[in-house]
Amino acid sequence: MSASATTKELNELLSAAVEYQAPPAEERTSFLRAVSNEIEALEEELLTICMEETGLGRDRLAGEKARTVNQFRMFADLVQEGSWVDARIDTAQPERKPLPKPDVRRVLQPLGPIGVFAASNFPLAFSVAGGDTASALAGGCPVVVKIHPGHPRTGKMMGDAIKRAVKETDVHPGVFGLLSDQSIETGIALVQHPAVKAIGFTGSLAGGKALMSAASRRAEPIPVFAEMGSLNPVFVLPNALAKRADKIAQGLADSVALGCGQFCTKPGFIAGVAGPKLDSVTRQLGELLSKKETGRMLTEGISGRFKKLIEERRGFVLAEGGAILLGTDLASFKQTPALHEEIFGPASLLVKCQTESELLELARHLEGQLTATLHADEEDLPLAGRLAELLREKVGRVIWNGYPTGVEVCPSMHHGGPYPATSDARFTSVGTAAIQRFVRPICYQSFPQMLLPPELRNENVRNIWRTVNGKLTKEKVT
Ligand code: NAP
Repeated sequence: MSASATTKELNELLSAAVEYQAPPAEERTSFLRAVSNEIEALEEELLTICMEETGLGRDRLAGEKARTVNQFRMFADLVQEGSWVDARIDTAQPERKPLPKPDVRRVLQPLGPIGVFAASNFPLAFSVAGGDTASALAGGCPVVVKIHPGHPRTGKMMGDAIKRAVKETDVHPGVFGLLSDQSIETGIALVQHPAVKAIGFTGSLAGGKALMSAASRRAEPIPVFAEMGSLNPVFVLPNALAKRADKIAQGLADSVALGCGQFCTKPGFIAGVAGPKLDSVTRQLGELLSKKETGRMLTEGISGRFKKLIEERRGFVLAEGGAILLGTDLASFKQTPALHEEIFGPASLLVKCQTESELLELARHLEGQLTATLHADEEDLPLAGRLAELLREKVGRVIWNGYPTGVEVCPSMHHGGPYPATSDARFTSVGTAAIQRFVRPICYQSFPQMLLPPELRNENVRNIWRTVNGKLTKEKVT
């Protein structure tokens, strides 16, 4: 597509988007439910096309489709209940001395048009109709999406499902637009379009950084909510290692190879204290990983990059087959910046520490991560406590005796973390809290009732929880 055709398309989609005014909560809820129903109704054809395009298995995609449907339903429930707008009301005290207190009311409102980059590794749940799109629409924002070139037909089908829901519920058509071109230039043009107010992205660190840089060069810089992956370190503590080395090796192998290692939460880094037990886990894990059948990767680009990263680290490879185990010690980890990078695909790095103090030093050395996991027993609690204190400064989610893959979509989930895992550790891209990225507070001072949004009027017509004069209540303001 020529540059002028892209500009024309972008201008048309965004002119329509700026005309979209978030409809009342009931209408927005019906729209989100209609989207979920339309996606649910896409049967075998969607899965077949998606399997062809991505190489992912049918069961995995059926599960991902259910997750995508549920995400929209979860956001519909959130918008219907309504308290997420965090309404706060402080009533006036005209008699206050020495100065009268004005009436001050605050609520969250949509940011405006959002540009979404579909992710390659979740062709349904983080793509055209994925979590970024669902949370922005729920927040009352219109969305323009760039399809991922790894699954264009899947992206189009999902986009058409959203467009059908727009028609059914008679929502303004500017609420959703799909760019037909998938080039890098189109992505940059989307970020730089003056009508766009924020970006949602999941992908590589290089891609995320390029979008952040393009966003900051605009006349009006905008936030880019980029999720860029991480090592997801797993610390196996000495007593857990002594008691259940086999189980931990099996669990790690399964988690590393799941989905051909193409998850942002894949455990790409394992650390333990040297000894016969760590040696036996290393051996077992190497065997289990090399026997894994991992299949085709999502795109040729991703597969080529994986092979290149492994070749560049050839000297660290301990075992190789369907999946790969690399190994090193603390000193070489510290001296080799390449080992701090995510290897997207079925591989993990095991770092052998000589002492518990080295384990702590290793934790201090880590960059920002989405997750960190501790495998520990009762007797490990003092060391686990010290590690957890260090790790909570570095990560968005800490996991006890589990595995980081399999991110639960729920209100308390935080899928984010300090840079370079994401561009802004304060926000999540999974779960209902993801809506917070695409809204901002607006404060009304001494405003007449009829000009206030319904959520801030004295009569609590939506029956939502509000903080009135410092107390959480559903009572009306008298
Ligand atoms: P990607 O290269 O970051 O691409 C994602 C999207 O961003 C695509 O639409 C891409 O467009 C666009 N993009 C990338 N670089 C750009 C730039 N400089 N300027 C403008 N747009 C840009 O991610 P991917 O294609 O999914 O996979 C490539 C690598 O990303 C993987 O090997 C892996 O390392 C990493 N990745 C990580 C995660 C994670 O969750 N951690 C997920 C997926 C991928 P084009 O396709 O046209 O370039």
